[in-house]
Order: sequence, then C-alpha cells, then structure tokens
Amino acid sequence: MEENSISRSFIEEFIAEDYKAYPVVKTRFPPEPNGYLHIGHVKAMWVDFSMAEKFGGSCNLRFDDTNPVKEDAEFVEAIKKDIHWMGFDWDKLCFGSDYFDTCFELAVKLIKKGVAYVCDLDKDQIREYRGTLTEPGVNSPYRDRSVEENLDLFMRMKAGEFPDGARTLRAKIDMASPNINMRDPALYRILHRAHHQTGDKWCIYPMYDFAHPIQDAIEGVTHSLCSLEYEAHRPLYNWVVEQCEFEHKPRQIEFARLNITNTVLSKRYLRMMVESGAVSGWDDPRMPTLCAMRRRGYPADAIKDFLARAGVAKADSVVDAAMLEHCVRENLNMNAHRAMAVTDPIKLVITNWPEGVTEDIAIENLPVDGAADAGCHSVPFGRELYIERDDFMVEPPRKFFRLKPEGEVRLKGAYIVKCTGYEADETGRVNCVFAEYDPESRSGECTRKVKGTIHWVPADAAIPAEFRIYEPLFDTEEVDADNLLESISPDSITVKHGFVEPFLAGAKPEVPYQFMRVGYFTADPDSREGAPVFNRTVALKDSYKPQGS
Ligand code: ATP
Ligand code: MG
Repeated sequence: MEENSISRSFIEEFIAEDYKAYPVVKTRFPPEPNGYLHIGHVKAMWVDFSMAEKFGGSCNLRFDDTNPVKEDAEFVEAIKKDIHWMGFDWDKLCFGSDYFDTCFELAVKLIKKGVAYVCDLDKDQIREYRGTLTEPGVNSPYRDRSVEENLDLFMRMKAGEFPDGARTLRAKIDMASPNINMRDPALYRILHRAHHQTGDKWCIYPMYDFAHPIQDAIEGVTHSLCSLEYEAHRPLYNWVVEQCEFEHKPRQIEFARLNITNTVLSKRYLRMMVESGAVSGWDDPRMPTLCAMRRRGYPADAIKDFLARAGVAKADSVVDAAMLEHCVRENLNMNAHRAMAVTDPIKLVITNWPEGVTEDIAIENLPVDGAADAGCHSVPFGRELYIERDDFMVEPPRKFFRLKPEGEVRLKGAYIVKCTGYEADETGRVNCVFAEYDPESRSGECTRKVKGTIHWVPADAAIPAEFRIYEPLFDTEEVDADNLLESISPDSITVKHGFVEPFLAGAKPEVPYQFMRVGYFTADPDSREGAPVFNRTVALKDSYKPQGS
C-alpha cells in the first residue's frame, strides 16, 4: 500500500503498540444501511481497510442494521457497489442482525448477573430522571426489581405483550456518573416493526451501544475505529465487553470526522434533501455522496488523493471544498481526453471557404505533457462553424484577444480567420459572425502568430448537447443546517444547450473529457444516443491555494 497520511496516522501508532502484545489486526467498516455513502464514509472505510492491510489483517463489511425503521435493502446493494468503486474489498460480509440471537442471550445473561433491569419509565420520564451535565440523575423506581421479575418482563417484551415504548431493558450502572451515557443506558427497546433481514421475528431490538461491542467481539475485531462522537460512548462500550465476559476485548479508537465547506456530510440531512425533492436524488451530481461524485465524473483516485491530503487527526476540522476540486482537476488534467464543445453557440461563416468542402483537423487527445501518448482525433472543418458566444465582442475592452470586428484569431488546430462583419437582431444580439480565413495559416504549417486561439465545432456535423454546470450546493462555507432546504443555492445548477464534436455522440458516463477552454466534463446517464448530456465535473480554473503558497 502506498504511504500517505491515512496509513501513517496516530491510529497506526496505537495499533502498532497493541500488535506487540497480540499480533492480530482485524477491523470492520460498519455503515448503517439507511442512505448512500458520502465522502466522509470513505475516510472511515479507508482507515478501516488500510489499517487491516498494513498489519496483514482483514476488514469485514458489517451492515449496522439494528434499527429496523430506517433501513432498506436498496441501500445495502448501493453501499457494496460504492465500496468496490473506491477500490476496497472486504473479508466477511456481516449484518448486525446476524447477532440478534446472541444479543438477546447476552441481555438475559446481564439480567441474571443483576446488571440489567426492565424499566417502565417512558421516554420523557427517562429524560427527566437522567439529570444534566451539572446534576446527577435519579434512580428509576424500577431499578431494584428482582432478577425473576426482570427475566419474566423481558421474555414478555420479546413475546410482544407490550406496545412500543412501554418498557426498556436498561443497564444498571450509575445514575450519578459524570458521563451521561453511563446513567443506566437503554440496551433494548420495544419496536413492533419488520426488519429487512429478520422479518417479523423480533419486536425488541438492541440499541447501538449494546449491539456494536457485541458484534465487534464476536467477529474478533481487535480495533473498532470510529468517529469522534463515539468517544463519550467508549466507557459504555468497554462496560458491555466486560460484563458480557468476552475473552477477546476489542479496543475502540476514535478519529475526527471529515467536514467539508459548503456541504453537509450527514445522511440525515442528505436524506432530507432527497425526500423533499430539493435535489434530484442521492446521485444528484451536486451531492457529496459517492454515487453523485461518480456520476459527476470525480475519479475515485482523486477522492483518495483529497483524503490523504486532508489527513487523519484526533481534532475536528473543516476542509476547503476547493481542495477537493483541486485534486479532481489535477487528476483529470493528466487523464481527460481533450475535445471541443461550444456551450453557448453563435454561428461563424467563413465566406471565402468553398461550400460543401471539409478538411480534417487533428486535435490531440492529450496535451504533450499528458500522462500517456493518446494520439489524435479529427474534426471536419468547413464553411460554417459554431463558436462560443462570448468569444466574439462587437465593442470589446482592451486586451480582448478573441474575435472582434476587423480582428484576427486562430481557430484551434485550424486556420487564422479575420472577422469581416456580423448580423444582429434589433436588440443588438448577434446571430452570426462572418470571417475570411488565411489559406496560408494552417496550424503547424505556418509561423504567423496571432494573440488568441478559440475553439469551434463544425455546424453541420456537431452533435447537439446539454451541459449541466454545477456550483456548490450551499454558497456559504458553513451550512445553516436549521434552514437546510432554504439554504440550497439556486445557482448550484445551470443548464446550457450547445454542441459537441461528432465523436462525442455516444460518450459514456465516467469517461472524462476536457472541453478545451470550457471545463472538465463527463456524460450523464440521462444521455441518449445522439443526444448526449454532459455534467461539468470541475471548472478549468483553480481557486484553491495550497497552504504556504
Ligand atoms: P451519518 O451522520 O452520515 O449518517 P453515521 O455515522 O450515522 O453518519 P454510519 O453509516 O453509521 O453513518 O457510518 C459508518 C461509519 O462511517 C462509522 O464508523 C462512522 O463513524 C463513519 N463516518 C460517518 N460519517 C463520517 C465522516 N464525516 N467522517 C469520517 N467518518 C465518518
Ligand atoms: Mg451511525
């Protein structure tokens, strides 16, 4: 594995220390199948998979499906696909629900040990009894039930005798603990819901804090790596492992979540945006999900490059979204084929070019310093072309090196043309530009230089195309989560209609192109044969300033 800040983090140092005493490393990546993976999850999976690989161990994929309410089989398949797309593979595929029987048996064990009890307080009462950060909690009046009564009630909870929320099984720890998570946390709750794996078998479900350490211990996980919000849950994690008397004790290590400016990285919010219709779906190319990034044309390697630069630390931080774009742009600059597209066309007629005649113009697929010698493709050049509307100005400012009346410009790969006139409507909007070409000026065969070069496509052979231009979903660096939907920037998508070179008629999704002078694009799955739709992956211009420069 390549060395980078993910594989050389503080986590590695902890694991290396443990490895001296017990030379086994087993990790797990535990997504909850209640939505699609976002780029924050990639940080977590990379840590999990890379630590296992580094120490010659293995990493399981475990769907954390202990909450039947929000989970769905659709998400399970999508998550697997996304992990593979990132280039990772798991050892065993597990489900938290695989261990429901064991969780139940262990709950019975804790009741018998006198460290768990059935409590009849409802949700609001439990909150009242729990106390606050500054005040200790109060013991539940049901805390001292006998083991027999607890066992009887727990069995009846399982048998479905009580409605949702009527009772919980709670750990008997310490209502005065300074750590609120240790104030008799719930271990099991009643929920009359079918589960996507276990169907109607259960109407009680273990809580995450109870189930997770059990799952880890059963799978032989040595290091349970998770994000920082679980730090305050670690004493409870250890309590469960201890009380269940697992011989092998997994160790939880926390690291900071990935946060990125101008977006939200939380399934809860992303789901809200999808369900409200504020975005077109989980794979709307503006979303920070992996399926959206793939659709937009982000290469998986660029995402890894970004995460490696962002690093793994214990302290929370927010990474500039421009850095992600920078990494994508760097990758595409080396790998994207060059082609021409006109996103806001006006016609250019070369009046001294004979009608019906075309000449093939070679366009290099990659610039000379590109990663590979990718050859050339040809574009037919003729009398009528399209050029970009803003490459022509009737009254240009100084230093406008594109086309203007009486001015000269080179058409990329082809000839120098001189503007001889134009046609405009009554509002002044230009419909058509006229020019004459210099037959001696063919690119590569002529030493005459002009200041500007513009791109073009042949008017009759070009393919009509739609271009979707994206900007950040939120135009403030810090997103106002309380007004999430209202905060979505209306400028985050602009649709344009123009033309592309003929060979792009059947462009395939995920294949990157640099439309010269326009940006990096890839075909969207909405494309139809002969009617391609392109997503702008990133703009050409880089606004990101690496630190220290
Ligand atoms: P979300 O709030 O997006 O739903 P989650 O933690 O509930 O996040 P899970 O599916 O439970 O989502 O997460 C699986 C793993 O990914 C967990 O170990 C979690 O800590 C980690 N993870 C989730 N979001 C991030 C993030 N932004 N940065 C790093 N790790 C993350
Ligand atoms: Mg979670």
